[in-house]
Formats: sequence, structure tokens, C-alpha cells
Amino acid sequence: MKNSKEMRTWLDDMQLDHPLVIAGPCSAETEEQVLKIAHELKDTDVSYYRAGIWKPRTRPGNFEGVGILGLKWLQKVKAETGMKTCTEVANRAHVELALEHDIDLLWIGARTSVSPFIMQEIADALAGTDKIVLVKNPINPDLSLWLGGIERLHTAGIKNLGAIHRGFSTYEKTKYRNIPEWQLAIEFKNKFPDLPLINDPSHITGNREMIFDVSQTALDLNFDGLMIETHFDPDNAWSDAAQQVTPAKLVQIMKDLKIRKESDPEAEYNKELTNLRAQIDVIDNQLIESLGKRMKISDSIGKLKKEKNVAVLQSNRWNQILGAMILEGESKGLSEEFVLRMFKAIHQESINHQEKIVNN
Ligand code: PEP
Ligand code: MN
Repeated sequence: MKNSKEMRTWLDDMQLDHPLVIAGPCSAETEEQVLKIAHELKDTDVSYYRAGIWKPRTRPGNFEGVGILGLKWLQKVKAETGMKTCTEVANRAHVELALEHDIDLLWIGARTSVSPFIMQEIADALAGTDKIVLVKNPINPDLSLWLGGIERLHTAGIKNLGAIHRGFSTYEKTKYRNIPEWQLAIEFKNKFPDLPLINDPSHITGNREMIFDVSQTALDLNFDGLMIETHFDPDNAWSDAAQQVTPAKLVQIMKDLKIRKESDPEAEYNKELTNLRAQIDVIDNQLIESLGKRMKISDSIGKLKKEKNVAVLQSNRWNQILGAMILEGESKGLSEEFVLRMFKAIHQESINHQEKIVNN
């Protein structure tokens, strides 16, 4: 992974000595709520105050945002606290209104970045702006779609760009609201090393208890900042109640996070090492996850074999797998000996699982 940046970005110009922090409520609810949270965040590491004005909800009938009224509240936030402001835009009309109200940073949400039509409409509406524009990953894990949206903005002459990783939707039930698929974010960073990449642990976890851990992983993977939903009364928030933290909790999280600065050669080495190790951890977790899934399928095969009274060990099938995997491993630089040993271990575990089922 490239660590040394070649281009100065809007984020470098901010000269922060800590990761960028964007915080504020999921939704602007009332003027009092917006201002109260802003004042509680005023003297913290938070540089940008967020609040959703137009809320794209999965099902109609839920709170859908206060609309243009909220832009005026954000202007008040800036006047009263000095914090810069940001909100989500999802079409041309939103862009025009946000620019009219001098919102400093606009982000494009996960339900918008899936659509090249809308991304082009927004790019055209923003053409030539010097506002900061951040693109959230699309809800489905499609790197090209994410990159494509950013390229549309770049082509429209938007210079101050960045991205937000907010996890991906999946049919599978996991402990996350949106699974991080860290590998994809790492790939993103490799493709665009100069583009600031912000992590959104709130929408990844959906649960305030997990925000610290996901934030730490993000920083270990060299993310440039965090966007964390913050509310003075999270449980009674009008949207995303389970994932919001109080301003005091946010300050505690920022204090506890290990932030690795690039200052001397030793620190640089440690940072690179931590980053590579974090990548290894991601892959090791994927390996265990995949092996667990493989054994579940193996269990189903065990049940089938039991019904049909078929022997657990099918040598032909096993030799086929082994041959194919040795070839596959070779193409990835893995020795035959290693692939053999690994697959023997996997196969043995599979047999143990099936034996248990067949003999039960
Ligand atoms: C949000 O940031 O409040 C939001 C709606 O996020 P996402 O687009 O990631 O779902
Ligand atoms: Mn939200």
C-alpha cells in the first residue's frame, strides 16, 4: 500500500494533527436539537458538523427529514460554533439548495451512489464547485460503481473529493448492519491513494457498542477520518437510534483510539507494519468465516449421505478437488506441499463433521 501521498488534498490543507472527525445527528429533527448537539461538539476534535436534512428511508412512512428548514439551522450552527457543516444531497434540487445555503461539504449517500444516472445529474449540478464532495460506497459491494461515481464528479471539475466507507448490504445475517468488506476498502485506497477516505462506523455497525472497534480497525488501515452519528439523546433519535452516541461518548472514543502519527522513520515503520497487520487480520477473519461456511455445507452433504446411506468418503471427488486446488494454488504462488497439507486438514475436519451426522 502506498503511504506517501503525491498530491496535496483539501484534507492536508486542514493541517489536523488527528484524523478528520465529522459528527452530528443522523437527522436534523428540530432547531433546538441541531443547535444543542452542535454546542456540545463545539470544543472537540470535530471539524465538520453533519445532519441529514433529506432522509432516504428504506420504507415510506418513516421520518423523511425536515427539508430546507434544516439548512437554515445548519447555517446557525456555523455562525454560533464556527464548525463547518455538511449534509447529504441526493439530486439536483438538493445540490442547488445546499450550495445556496453555503453548506461546506456535501456527501452523496449509499442509495444514491448506486445510480450512474443520479451521479451524473449531481455531477452536472456541482460542476466546478470548490466545496468538498464525499461519495459513500454504494449499498452493494461493487468497487467499479463506487469509483465510477467519483470519476463522474472528477470529470465535472470537482477538485475537492473524497470517499466514505459505510459498509455493504447483504442478505446474510451478520453482526453488522452493513458488512465492512474491508478488503474492498483496501483495494479502493490502493486505486486512489490520494483521495481522502473516511470511515462511517455508525452505518457499518448499526450499534453504538461496536463503534470503537470498527473505528480502530479503520485507523489501523490508514483511513483518513471518521464520520460518527452523534445525538444528545440517542435512544430517542428520530432515525438510527441504536447507532448514535452522545457527544461525551464521542470524545471518549476519540481519546481511546490509538492514532498513529507519521512523524519519524520509526513511527513510519510502525504505522506501515500496523497497517499490513490489520490487512492480514481482515483476511484471517475471512478465512475462518469461509471455513465455517464450508463446514455448514459439508454438514448438509452429511445429512444427504445419511438419507441415502452413502459412504462419507468419496475418493474420486476428493482427488478431483485436490488436483484442482493444487493448480489454483500454484497460480497464486502457493507450494504444492502447502496446498496438500491445508486441504488434508480441511478435508479431515469435513469428514469429522459428516461422521458425526451420519452416526448420529
Ligand atoms: C446517513 O449518513 O445518515 C445515511 C443515510 O447514510 P447511508 O447513505 O450510508 O445509508
Ligand atoms: Mn443515519
